[in-house]
Amino acid sequence: MAGSPRVGVLGLQGDVREHLRTLDRLAVDGCVVRRPNEVAELDGLIIPGGESTVIDKLSRLFGLAAPISEAIENGLPVFGTCAGLIMLASKIEDGVDGQQTFGGLDVTVRRNAFGSQLDSFETSLPVPALGADPVHAVFIRAPIVSHVGPNAEVLASLDDERVVAVRTGDVFGLSFHPEMGDELRFHELFVAAVRDRTG
Ligand code: GLN
Repeated sequence: MAGSPRVGVLGLQGDVREHLRTLDRLAVDGCVVRRPNEVAELDGLIIPGGESTVIDKLSRLFGLAAPISEAIENGLPVFGTCAGLIMLASKIEDGVDGQQTFGGLDVTVRRNAFGSQLDSFETSLPVPALGADPVHAVFIRAPIVSHVGPNAEVLASLDDERVVAVRTGDVFGLSFHPEMGDELRFHELFVAAVRDRTG
């Protein structure tokens, strides 16, 4: 697509297709990223939902973890949902032994924070940065943001004030899955940040 920024979706595990479909609906040229040399060609990167322990292991095994962390440090816009949020947190609670992240978000994230009784739920979530219409948010074995550092901005919280959406500069992380429904606005916000950088 002419004039489209090159947005990758990390394709090791998780709901890769749902993110590609959402990008497609925004007429953005999405591609699957599986090799270290593909990272340098990107204008933006999405880390999908899935299982953060698996994404962590595979990204290290395939030599992707270091180039992704470096690209984020050098300002690559990145957007993570659920397991993707965990992969972008600077610290995690309730990770498995030795679990690592790419970093980028100045937050601590707690995995599986809603417990087995409330494994999955859907709710209507106000997100002021996206306008007056709330987001239909799907949470699946979701993490929460348990600590927000000085370089992170809260984008959304639940009624009980638990933080579920944050950004640090052009790095965005959500506890839930906008890619699973008809919600396009988070991807739009991310793509706008990507376009701002690519000029
Ligand atoms: N519980 C998963 C993890 O720790 C995240 C679940 C999800 O991405 N829906 O990675």
